[in-house]
Amino acid sequence: MISSESDTIAAISTPLGEGGIGIIRLSGSEAISIVSKIFHSLRGINLSDVKTHTIHYGFIIDPATGEKIDEVLVTVMRAPHTYTREDVVEINCHAGFITLKRVLDLVIEYGARLAEPGEFTKRAFLGGRIDLSQAESVIDLIRAKTEQAQKIALEHLSGRLSQKINELRDSLMMVCAHVEAYIDFPEEEIDGMTAEEIIGEISRIKNEIKYLIDGYEEGKIYREGLTTAIVGKPNVGKSSLLNALLMKDRAIVTEIPGTTRDIIEEYVNIKGMPLKIVDTAGIRQAHDLVEAEGIKRTLRAVEVAELVLLVLDSSRPINSLDEEIINRISGKKVIVVINKKDIKNKEFQLPESLEDKPMVEISALTGEGIEELKELIFNTTITGRYAQEGLVVTKLRHKQALDKALDALNNAINSFKENEPIEITAMFLRDGLSFLGQIVGAVTTEEILDLIFSEFCIGK
Ligand code: GDP
Repeated sequence: MISSESDTIAAISTPLGEGGIGIIRLSGSEAISIVSKIFHSLRGINLSDVKTHTIHYGFIIDPATGEKIDEVLVTVMRAPHTYTREDVVEINCHAGFITLKRVLDLVIEYGARLAEPGEFTKRAFLGGRIDLSQAESVIDLIRAKTEQAQKIALEHLSGRLSQKINELRDSLMMVCAHVEAYIDFPEEEIDGMTAEEIIGEISRIKNEIKYLIDGYEEGKIYREGLTTAIVGKPNVGKSSLLNALLMKDRAIVTEIPGTTRDIIEEYVNIKGMPLKIVDTAGIRQAHDLVEAEGIKRTLRAVEVAELVLLVLDSSRPINSLDEEIINRISGKKVIVVINKKDIKNKEFQLPESLEDKPMVEISALTGEGIEELKELIFNTTITGRYAQEGLVVTKLRHKQALDKALDALNNAINSFKENEPIEITAMFLRDGLSFLGQIVGAVTTEEILDLIFSEFCIGK
Protein backbone atom coordinates (compact mmCIF):
# COMPACT_ATOMS: atom_id res chain seq x y z
CA MET A 1 0.00 0.00 0.00
CA ILE A 2 1.15 3.49 -0.75
CA SER A 3 1.25 5.58 2.38
CA SER A 4 0.83 9.31 2.63
CA GLU A 5 4.58 9.86 2.66
CA SER A 6 5.05 7.91 -0.58
CA ASP A 7 7.03 9.43 -3.41
CA THR A 8 5.69 12.20 -5.57
CA ILE A 9 4.61 11.21 -9.06
CA ALA A 10 4.38 13.27 -12.24
CA ALA A 11 3.12 12.80 -15.78
CA ILE A 12 1.81 14.60 -18.81
CA SER A 13 -1.93 14.24 -18.26
CA THR A 14 -3.21 15.57 -21.58
CA PRO A 15 -2.97 13.76 -24.92
CA LEU A 16 0.30 14.19 -26.77
CA GLY A 17 0.11 16.39 -29.80
CA GLU A 18 -0.30 20.03 -30.63
CA GLY A 19 -2.95 21.87 -28.70
CA GLY A 20 -3.77 24.99 -26.75
CA ILE A 21 -2.89 23.64 -23.35
CA GLY A 22 -0.97 20.65 -22.06
CA ILE A 23 -0.96 19.72 -18.41
CA ILE A 24 1.78 18.23 -16.26
CA ARG A 25 0.26 16.80 -13.13
CA LEU A 26 2.08 16.00 -9.91
CA SER A 27 0.75 14.22 -6.84
CA GLY A 28 2.43 13.56 -3.51
CA SER A 29 3.77 15.26 -0.45
CA GLU A 30 6.59 16.96 -2.37
CA ALA A 31 4.46 18.16 -5.29
CA ILE A 32 4.25 21.77 -4.18
CA SER A 33 7.89 22.12 -3.08
CA ILE A 34 9.17 20.53 -6.31
CA VAL A 35 7.20 22.89 -8.54
CA SER A 36 8.08 25.92 -6.43
CA LYS A 37 11.75 25.26 -7.25
CA ILE A 38 11.15 25.71 -10.96
CA PHE A 39 8.26 28.19 -10.95
CA HIS A 40 8.96 31.89 -11.13
CA SER A 41 6.18 34.36 -10.51
CA LEU A 42 6.60 37.99 -11.55
CA ARG A 43 4.90 38.99 -8.33
CA GLY A 44 7.28 36.94 -6.23
CA ILE A 45 4.67 34.40 -5.15
CA ASN A 46 6.03 31.33 -3.39
CA LEU A 47 3.79 28.33 -4.13
CA SER A 48 4.48 26.86 -0.71
CA ASP A 49 2.61 29.79 0.86
CA VAL A 50 -0.44 29.99 -1.38
CA LYS A 51 -3.95 28.95 -0.44
CA THR A 52 -5.28 25.63 -1.64
CA HIS A 53 -7.17 25.48 -4.96
CA THR A 54 -5.63 28.63 -6.38
CA ILE A 55 -4.08 29.33 -9.79
CA HIS A 56 -0.87 31.27 -10.34
CA TYR A 57 0.64 32.87 -13.40
CA GLY A 58 4.36 32.72 -14.06
CA PHE A 59 7.22 30.97 -15.86
CA ILE A 60 8.93 27.64 -15.61
CA ILE A 61 12.64 28.33 -15.38
CA ASP A 62 15.44 25.80 -15.32
CA PRO A 63 17.21 26.70 -12.08
CA ALA A 64 20.51 25.30 -13.33
CA THR A 65 20.74 27.54 -16.39
CA GLY A 66 18.19 30.27 -15.72
CA GLU A 67 16.58 29.43 -19.06
CA LYS A 68 12.88 30.21 -19.47
CA ILE A 69 11.10 27.01 -20.56
CA ASP A 70 7.44 28.10 -20.76
CA GLU A 71 4.85 30.60 -19.66
CA VAL A 72 2.40 28.74 -17.44
CA LEU A 73 -0.52 28.71 -15.05
CA VAL A 74 0.03 26.57 -11.97
CA THR A 75 -2.85 25.17 -9.94
CA VAL A 76 -2.10 24.25 -6.34
CA MET A 77 -4.48 21.81 -4.61
CA ARG A 78 -3.64 20.65 -1.14
CA ALA A 79 -4.65 17.33 0.39
CA PRO A 80 -7.15 16.00 1.16
CA HIS A 81 -9.64 17.58 -1.27
CA THR A 82 -7.87 16.47 -4.43
CA TYR A 83 -8.14 13.71 -7.03
CA THR A 84 -5.63 11.54 -5.19
CA ARG A 85 -6.18 12.91 -1.68
CA GLU A 86 -2.53 13.95 -1.78
CA ASP A 87 -1.15 17.39 -2.62
CA VAL A 88 -1.69 17.89 -6.34
CA VAL A 89 -0.11 20.50 -8.60
CA GLU A 90 -1.05 20.97 -12.23
CA ILE A 91 1.14 22.99 -14.54
CA ASN A 92 -0.77 24.34 -17.55
CA CYS A 93 1.83 24.65 -20.28
CA HIS A 94 1.66 25.32 -23.98
CA ALA A 95 0.96 21.93 -25.43
CA GLY A 96 3.95 21.34 -27.68
CA PHE A 97 5.54 17.99 -27.02
CA ILE A 98 9.03 19.44 -26.50
CA THR A 99 7.77 21.98 -23.99
CA LEU A 100 5.84 19.39 -22.02
CA LYS A 101 8.73 16.96 -22.11
CA ARG A 102 11.19 19.60 -20.84
CA VAL A 103 8.92 20.64 -17.98
CA LEU A 104 8.34 16.98 -17.09
CA ASP A 105 12.09 16.35 -17.14
CA LEU A 106 12.59 19.26 -14.79
CA VAL A 107 10.07 18.12 -12.19
CA ILE A 108 11.63 14.69 -12.33
CA GLU A 109 15.09 16.14 -11.92
CA TYR A 110 13.83 17.99 -8.85
CA GLY A 111 12.45 14.94 -7.13
CA ALA A 112 9.29 13.59 -8.77
CA ARG A 113 9.06 10.13 -10.28
CA LEU A 114 7.34 9.34 -13.59
CA ALA A 115 3.87 7.97 -12.82
CA GLU A 116 2.90 4.50 -13.90
CA PRO A 117 -0.24 3.98 -16.02
CA GLY A 118 -3.32 4.80 -13.94
CA GLU A 119 -1.25 5.65 -10.87
CA PHE A 120 -3.12 8.87 -10.08
CA THR A 121 -6.40 6.96 -10.04
CA LYS A 122 -4.78 4.12 -8.12
CA ARG A 123 -3.79 6.63 -5.46
CA ALA A 124 -7.33 7.95 -5.37
CA PHE A 125 -8.37 4.38 -4.58
CA LEU A 126 -5.61 3.72 -2.07
CA GLY A 127 -6.28 7.08 -0.45
CA GLY A 128 -9.86 5.96 0.09
CA ARG A 129 -11.46 8.65 -2.06
CA ILE A 130 -13.06 6.12 -4.40
CA ASP A 131 -13.42 2.36 -4.27
CA LEU A 132 -12.12 -0.09 -6.81
CA SER A 133 -15.19 -0.30 -9.04
CA GLN A 134 -15.30 3.49 -9.14
CA ALA A 135 -11.62 3.65 -10.07
CA GLU A 136 -12.18 1.15 -12.86
CA SER A 137 -15.00 3.23 -14.29
CA VAL A 138 -12.60 6.12 -14.91
CA ILE A 139 -11.15 4.23 -17.86
CA ASP A 140 -14.65 3.47 -19.17
CA LEU A 141 -15.54 7.11 -18.93
CA ILE A 142 -12.48 8.01 -20.98
CA ARG A 143 -13.18 5.33 -23.59
CA ALA A 144 -16.97 5.61 -23.79
CA LYS A 145 -18.16 5.41 -27.39
CA THR A 146 -21.69 6.69 -26.99
CA GLU A 147 -23.42 9.05 -24.62
CA GLN A 148 -25.28 6.15 -23.05
CA ALA A 149 -22.02 4.31 -22.37
CA GLN A 150 -20.59 7.49 -20.90
CA LYS A 151 -23.63 7.86 -18.66
CA ILE A 152 -23.24 4.32 -17.35
CA ALA A 153 -19.56 4.87 -16.62
CA LEU A 154 -20.38 8.05 -14.77
CA GLU A 155 -23.01 6.25 -12.68
CA HIS A 156 -20.32 3.76 -11.71
CA LEU A 157 -17.85 6.51 -10.96
CA SER A 158 -20.34 8.18 -8.69
CA GLY A 159 -20.70 4.92 -6.82
CA ARG A 160 -24.03 3.48 -7.97
CA LEU A 161 -22.72 -0.05 -8.36
CA SER A 162 -20.55 0.19 -5.25
CA GLN A 163 -23.55 1.23 -3.24
CA LYS A 164 -25.54 -1.77 -4.40
CA ILE A 165 -22.66 -4.16 -3.71
CA ASN A 166 -22.13 -2.68 -0.27
CA GLU A 167 -25.83 -3.07 0.55
CA LEU A 168 -25.62 -6.73 -0.44
CA ARG A 169 -22.48 -7.17 1.64
CA ASP A 170 -24.15 -5.62 4.67
CA SER A 171 -27.15 -7.92 4.33
CA LEU A 172 -24.93 -10.95 3.90
CA MET A 173 -22.83 -9.90 6.86
CA MET A 174 -25.99 -9.92 9.00
CA VAL A 175 -26.89 -13.45 7.93
CA CYS A 176 -23.32 -14.48 8.53
CA ALA A 177 -23.36 -13.03 12.03
CA HIS A 178 -26.53 -14.93 12.89
CA VAL A 179 -25.14 -18.17 11.56
CA GLU A 180 -21.83 -17.70 13.32
CA ALA A 181 -23.57 -16.88 16.59
CA TYR A 182 -25.10 -20.28 16.30
CA ILE A 183 -21.66 -21.87 16.00
CA ASP A 184 -20.61 -20.16 19.20
CA PHE A 185 -23.80 -20.90 21.10
CA PRO A 186 -25.21 -24.02 19.47
CA GLU A 187 -27.72 -24.76 22.19
CA GLU A 188 -29.69 -21.61 21.38
CA GLU A 189 -31.93 -20.98 18.44
CA ILE A 190 -30.15 -19.05 15.72
CA ASP A 191 -30.19 -15.69 17.38
CA GLY A 192 -33.61 -14.40 16.47
CA MET A 193 -33.63 -15.69 12.90
CA THR A 194 -35.48 -18.87 12.01
CA ALA A 195 -34.05 -21.31 9.51
CA GLU A 196 -36.65 -20.15 6.97
CA GLU A 197 -35.70 -16.56 7.51
CA ILE A 198 -32.06 -17.35 6.95
CA ILE A 199 -32.81 -19.20 3.73
CA GLY A 200 -35.20 -16.44 2.67
CA GLU A 201 -32.61 -13.74 3.21
CA ILE A 202 -29.86 -15.62 1.40
CA SER A 203 -32.27 -16.22 -1.50
CA ARG A 204 -33.16 -12.56 -1.66
CA ILE A 205 -29.47 -11.62 -1.87
CA LYS A 206 -28.99 -14.32 -4.50
CA ASN A 207 -31.75 -12.84 -6.64
CA GLU A 208 -30.20 -9.41 -6.51
CA ILE A 209 -26.86 -10.86 -7.54
CA LYS A 210 -28.54 -12.74 -10.36
CA TYR A 211 -30.13 -9.55 -11.61
CA LEU A 212 -26.70 -7.93 -11.78
CA ILE A 213 -25.25 -10.93 -13.59
CA ASP A 214 -28.12 -10.93 -16.09
CA GLY A 215 -27.43 -7.29 -16.94
CA TYR A 216 -23.81 -7.97 -17.78
CA GLU A 217 -24.42 -9.06 -21.36
CA GLU A 218 -26.00 -5.68 -22.04
CA GLY A 219 -23.47 -3.79 -19.97
CA LYS A 220 -20.66 -5.36 -21.92
CA ILE A 221 -22.25 -4.24 -25.17
CA TYR A 222 -22.50 -0.66 -23.94
CA ARG A 223 -18.89 -0.74 -22.84
CA GLU A 224 -17.27 -2.58 -25.74
CA GLY A 225 -19.79 -2.39 -28.56
CA LEU A 226 -21.54 -5.26 -30.34
CA THR A 227 -19.19 -6.77 -32.89
CA THR A 228 -21.07 -6.77 -36.17
CA ALA A 229 -20.26 -8.03 -39.65
CA ILE A 230 -21.98 -6.72 -42.77
CA VAL A 231 -21.93 -9.54 -45.30
CA GLY A 232 -23.31 -10.25 -48.74
CA LYS A 233 -22.06 -10.90 -52.24
CA PRO A 234 -20.49 -8.07 -54.26
CA ASN A 235 -22.79 -5.20 -55.26
CA VAL A 236 -25.64 -5.95 -52.89
CA GLY A 237 -25.00 -2.61 -51.18
CA LYS A 238 -22.82 -3.40 -48.14
CA SER A 239 -20.71 -0.35 -48.56
CA SER A 240 -23.76 1.83 -49.18
CA LEU A 241 -25.38 0.42 -46.05
CA LEU A 242 -22.26 1.11 -44.00
CA ASN A 243 -22.24 4.68 -45.24
CA ALA A 244 -25.92 5.11 -44.53
CA LEU A 245 -25.42 3.85 -41.00
CA LEU A 246 -22.40 6.03 -40.45
CA MET A 247 -23.82 9.13 -42.07
CA LYS A 248 -25.62 10.50 -39.04
CA ASP A 249 -24.37 8.33 -36.30
CA ARG A 250 -20.69 7.66 -36.66
CA ALA A 251 -19.50 7.20 -33.14
CA ILE A 252 -15.75 6.98 -33.47
CA VAL A 253 -13.05 5.74 -35.80
CA THR A 254 -10.25 3.63 -34.48
CA GLU A 255 -7.25 2.30 -36.17
CA ILE A 256 -5.75 -0.43 -34.09
CA PRO A 257 -2.05 0.35 -33.75
CA GLY A 258 0.27 -2.10 -35.42
CA THR A 259 -2.28 -3.53 -37.78
CA THR A 260 -2.90 -2.85 -41.41
CA ARG A 261 -5.82 -0.82 -42.67
CA ASP A 262 -7.54 -4.15 -43.17
CA ILE A 263 -9.01 -4.36 -39.73
CA ILE A 264 -10.33 -0.89 -39.35
CA GLU A 265 -13.32 -0.76 -37.07
CA GLU A 266 -15.99 1.82 -36.99
CA TYR A 267 -18.66 2.37 -34.42
CA VAL A 268 -22.26 3.17 -35.24
CA ASN A 269 -24.41 4.60 -32.49
CA ILE A 270 -27.67 2.62 -32.29
CA LYS A 271 -29.84 4.41 -29.74
CA GLY A 272 -26.87 4.66 -27.40
CA MET A 273 -25.61 1.17 -28.08
CA PRO A 274 -22.29 1.09 -29.93
CA LEU A 275 -22.20 -1.25 -32.91
CA LYS A 276 -18.64 -2.19 -33.75
CA ILE A 277 -18.54 -2.88 -37.47
CA VAL A 278 -15.62 -5.14 -38.32
CA ASP A 279 -13.62 -5.25 -41.51
CA THR A 280 -14.93 -2.00 -42.88
CA ALA A 281 -11.92 -1.84 -45.19
CA GLY A 282 -12.92 -5.19 -46.64
CA ILE A 283 -16.44 -3.96 -47.22
CA ARG A 284 -15.23 -0.91 -49.07
CA GLN A 285 -12.71 -2.76 -51.20
CA ALA A 286 -15.11 -5.52 -52.08
CA HIS A 287 -15.27 -4.55 -55.75
CA ASP A 288 -11.56 -4.97 -56.23
CA LEU A 289 -11.47 -8.37 -54.63
CA VAL A 290 -11.60 -11.65 -56.49
CA GLU A 291 -14.50 -13.77 -55.41
CA ALA A 292 -12.49 -16.24 -53.34
CA GLU A 293 -10.81 -13.44 -51.43
CA GLY A 294 -14.20 -11.82 -50.82
CA ILE A 295 -15.55 -15.03 -49.33
CA LYS A 296 -12.44 -15.46 -47.21
CA ARG A 297 -12.82 -12.00 -45.76
CA THR A 298 -16.51 -12.53 -45.15
CA LEU A 299 -15.77 -15.69 -43.21
CA ARG A 300 -13.16 -13.97 -41.10
CA ALA A 301 -15.54 -11.16 -40.22
CA VAL A 302 -18.37 -13.60 -39.51
CA GLU A 303 -16.18 -15.63 -37.22
CA VAL A 304 -15.63 -12.77 -34.79
CA ALA A 305 -19.09 -11.25 -35.17
CA GLU A 306 -21.75 -11.37 -32.48
CA LEU A 307 -24.27 -10.08 -35.00
CA VAL A 308 -24.36 -10.56 -38.77
CA LEU A 309 -26.19 -8.15 -41.06
CA LEU A 310 -26.83 -10.24 -44.14
CA VAL A 311 -27.43 -7.95 -47.11
CA LEU A 312 -29.47 -9.25 -50.06
CA ASP A 313 -30.12 -7.36 -53.27
CA SER A 314 -33.85 -7.40 -54.07
CA SER A 315 -33.31 -6.00 -57.56
CA ARG A 316 -32.21 -9.42 -58.81
CA PRO A 317 -33.00 -13.02 -57.90
CA ILE A 318 -31.04 -14.84 -55.24
CA ASN A 319 -28.19 -16.86 -56.73
CA SER A 320 -25.75 -19.52 -55.63
CA LEU A 321 -23.34 -16.98 -54.20
CA ASP A 322 -26.04 -15.70 -51.84
CA GLU A 323 -26.81 -19.31 -50.95
CA GLU A 324 -23.19 -20.01 -50.17
CA ILE A 325 -22.94 -17.02 -47.86
CA ILE A 326 -26.23 -17.98 -46.17
CA ASN A 327 -24.80 -21.43 -45.50
CA ARG A 328 -21.65 -19.99 -44.02
CA ILE A 329 -23.47 -17.85 -41.47
CA SER A 330 -25.71 -20.55 -40.07
CA GLY A 331 -25.54 -20.65 -36.30
CA LYS A 332 -24.90 -16.91 -36.04
CA LYS A 333 -27.31 -14.29 -34.88
CA VAL A 334 -28.50 -12.80 -38.17
CA ILE A 335 -30.61 -9.86 -39.26
CA VAL A 336 -31.64 -10.04 -42.92
CA VAL A 337 -31.35 -6.71 -44.69
CA ILE A 338 -33.20 -6.74 -47.99
CA ASN A 339 -31.68 -3.86 -49.89
CA LYS A 340 -32.59 -1.87 -52.99
CA LYS A 341 -36.24 -1.67 -52.04
CA ASP A 342 -36.54 1.23 -54.52
CA ILE A 343 -35.82 -1.05 -57.49
CA LYS A 344 -37.20 -4.32 -56.17
CA ASN A 345 -37.60 -7.07 -58.76
CA LYS A 346 -40.63 -9.38 -58.86
CA GLU A 347 -38.29 -12.33 -59.30
CA PHE A 348 -36.72 -11.77 -55.91
CA GLN A 349 -37.75 -14.34 -53.39
CA LEU A 350 -36.43 -14.78 -49.89
CA PRO A 351 -34.82 -18.19 -49.36
CA GLU A 352 -36.87 -20.40 -47.07
CA SER A 353 -34.03 -20.84 -44.59
CA LEU A 354 -34.23 -17.15 -43.76
CA GLU A 355 -37.95 -16.88 -43.29
CA ASP A 356 -37.85 -17.03 -39.49
CA LYS A 357 -35.04 -14.46 -39.16
CA PRO A 358 -35.67 -10.88 -38.20
CA MET A 359 -35.65 -8.86 -41.40
CA VAL A 360 -36.16 -5.40 -42.79
CA GLU A 361 -36.45 -3.95 -46.27
CA ILE A 362 -34.35 -0.90 -46.92
CA SER A 363 -32.87 1.27 -49.58
CA ALA A 364 -29.32 2.16 -48.65
CA LEU A 365 -29.42 4.65 -51.50
CA THR A 366 -32.45 6.67 -50.39
CA GLY A 367 -32.10 5.95 -46.68
CA GLU A 368 -35.54 4.38 -46.53
CA GLY A 369 -35.78 1.73 -43.81
CA ILE A 370 -32.50 2.64 -42.12
CA GLU A 371 -34.26 3.80 -38.94
CA GLU A 372 -36.32 0.57 -38.89
CA LEU A 373 -33.12 -1.40 -39.26
CA LYS A 374 -31.63 0.40 -36.28
CA GLU A 375 -34.74 -0.27 -34.19
CA LEU A 376 -34.53 -3.93 -35.17
CA ILE A 377 -30.85 -4.16 -34.25
CA PHE A 378 -31.50 -2.55 -30.89
CA ASN A 379 -34.62 -4.53 -30.05
CA THR A 380 -33.18 -7.90 -30.97
CA THR A 381 -30.03 -7.25 -28.96
CA ILE A 382 -30.86 -5.40 -25.84
CA THR A 383 -33.75 -4.68 -23.49
CA GLY A 384 -32.29 -1.33 -22.51
CA ARG A 385 -33.82 -1.98 -19.12
CA TYR A 386 -30.60 -2.31 -17.15
CA ALA A 387 -29.08 0.85 -18.54
CA GLN A 388 -32.30 2.72 -17.88
CA GLU A 389 -32.24 1.66 -14.27
CA GLY A 390 -28.68 2.90 -14.11
CA LEU A 391 -27.38 -0.27 -12.58
CA VAL A 392 -25.58 -2.33 -15.12
CA VAL A 393 -22.49 -4.43 -14.69
CA THR A 394 -20.12 -3.77 -17.56
CA LYS A 395 -16.91 -5.47 -16.51
CA LEU A 396 -15.97 -9.11 -16.82
CA ARG A 397 -14.05 -8.91 -13.54
CA HIS A 398 -17.20 -7.84 -11.72
CA LYS A 399 -19.35 -10.41 -13.45
CA GLN A 400 -16.95 -13.20 -12.54
CA ALA A 401 -16.89 -12.12 -8.90
CA LEU A 402 -20.71 -12.08 -8.90
CA ASP A 403 -20.80 -15.57 -10.44
CA LYS A 404 -18.54 -16.86 -7.69
CA ALA A 405 -20.56 -15.11 -5.01
CA LEU A 406 -23.73 -16.70 -6.39
CA ASP A 407 -22.11 -20.14 -6.35
CA ALA A 408 -21.02 -19.64 -2.78
CA LEU A 409 -24.53 -18.66 -1.71
CA ASN A 410 -26.02 -21.66 -3.50
CA ASN A 411 -23.59 -23.86 -1.61
CA ALA A 412 -24.46 -22.11 1.64
CA ILE A 413 -28.18 -22.77 1.16
CA ASN A 414 -27.60 -26.39 0.20
CA SER A 415 -25.37 -27.13 3.14
CA PHE A 416 -27.83 -25.40 5.47
CA LYS A 417 -30.81 -27.33 4.11
CA GLU A 418 -28.94 -30.60 4.31
CA ASN A 419 -28.05 -29.99 7.93
CA GLU A 420 -24.36 -30.11 7.34
CA PRO A 421 -22.28 -28.70 10.20
CA ILE A 422 -23.19 -25.05 10.51
CA GLU A 423 -19.51 -24.11 10.16
CA ILE A 424 -19.70 -25.20 6.52
CA THR A 425 -22.63 -22.86 5.85
CA ALA A 426 -20.76 -20.06 7.57
CA MET A 427 -17.70 -20.72 5.46
CA PHE A 428 -19.68 -20.49 2.21
CA LEU A 429 -21.29 -17.26 3.37
CA ARG A 430 -17.85 -15.84 4.15
CA ASP A 431 -16.73 -16.84 0.64
CA GLY A 432 -19.72 -15.00 -0.79
CA LEU A 433 -18.81 -11.92 1.20
CA SER A 434 -15.27 -12.05 0.05
CA PHE A 435 -16.22 -12.33 -3.65
CA LEU A 436 -18.54 -9.34 -3.34
CA GLY A 437 -15.74 -7.51 -1.56
CA GLN A 438 -13.45 -8.03 -4.54
CA ILE A 439 -15.69 -5.86 -6.69
CA VAL A 440 -15.37 -2.77 -4.57
CA GLY A 441 -11.82 -3.56 -3.52
CA ALA A 442 -12.59 -4.28 0.13
CA VAL A 443 -10.79 -7.54 -0.49
CA THR A 444 -7.97 -7.20 -2.94
CA THR A 445 -4.41 -8.09 -3.80
CA GLU A 446 -1.57 -6.14 -5.33
CA GLU A 447 -1.87 -8.44 -8.33
CA ILE A 448 -5.48 -7.48 -9.02
CA LEU A 449 -4.60 -3.82 -8.64
CA ASP A 450 -1.69 -4.04 -11.06
CA LEU A 451 -3.87 -5.75 -13.61
CA ILE A 452 -6.62 -3.17 -13.33
CA PHE A 453 -4.49 -0.07 -13.43
CA SER A 454 -2.17 -1.26 -16.18
CA GLU A 455 -5.16 -0.79 -18.52
CA PHE A 456 -4.97 2.95 -17.93
CA CYS A 457 -2.87 5.46 -19.79
CA ILE A 458 -0.03 7.26 -18.08
CA GLY A 459 -1.16 10.51 -16.57
CA LYS A 460 -4.61 9.31 -15.55
P1 GDP B 1 -21.15 -3.69 -52.08
O1 GDP B 1 -20.30 -4.26 -53.13
O2 GDP B 1 -22.02 -4.73 -51.48
O3 GDP B 1 -20.42 -2.90 -51.05
O4 GDP B 1 -22.17 -2.72 -52.81
P2 GDP B 1 -22.17 -1.12 -52.95
O5 GDP B 1 -22.62 -0.49 -51.68
O6 GDP B 1 -20.90 -0.66 -53.50
O7 GDP B 1 -23.34 -0.93 -53.98
C1 GDP B 1 -23.29 -1.46 -55.28
C2 GDP B 1 -24.12 -0.62 -56.22
O8 GDP B 1 -25.49 -0.65 -55.81
C3 GDP B 1 -23.75 0.85 -56.19
O9 GDP B 1 -23.83 1.34 -57.49
C4 GDP B 1 -24.79 1.46 -55.30
O10 GDP B 1 -25.03 2.83 -55.62
C5 GDP B 1 -25.98 0.64 -55.61
N1 GDP B 1 -26.92 0.59 -54.50
C6 GDP B 1 -26.66 0.30 -53.20
N2 GDP B 1 -27.79 0.34 -52.48
C7 GDP B 1 -28.79 0.68 -53.31
C8 GDP B 1 -30.20 0.88 -53.16
O11 GDP B 1 -30.78 0.74 -52.07
N3 GDP B 1 -30.90 1.20 -54.28
C9 GDP B 1 -30.33 1.35 -55.49
N4 GDP B 1 -31.10 1.69 -56.50
N5 GDP B 1 -29.01 1.18 -55.68
C10 GDP B 1 -28.23 0.84 -54.61
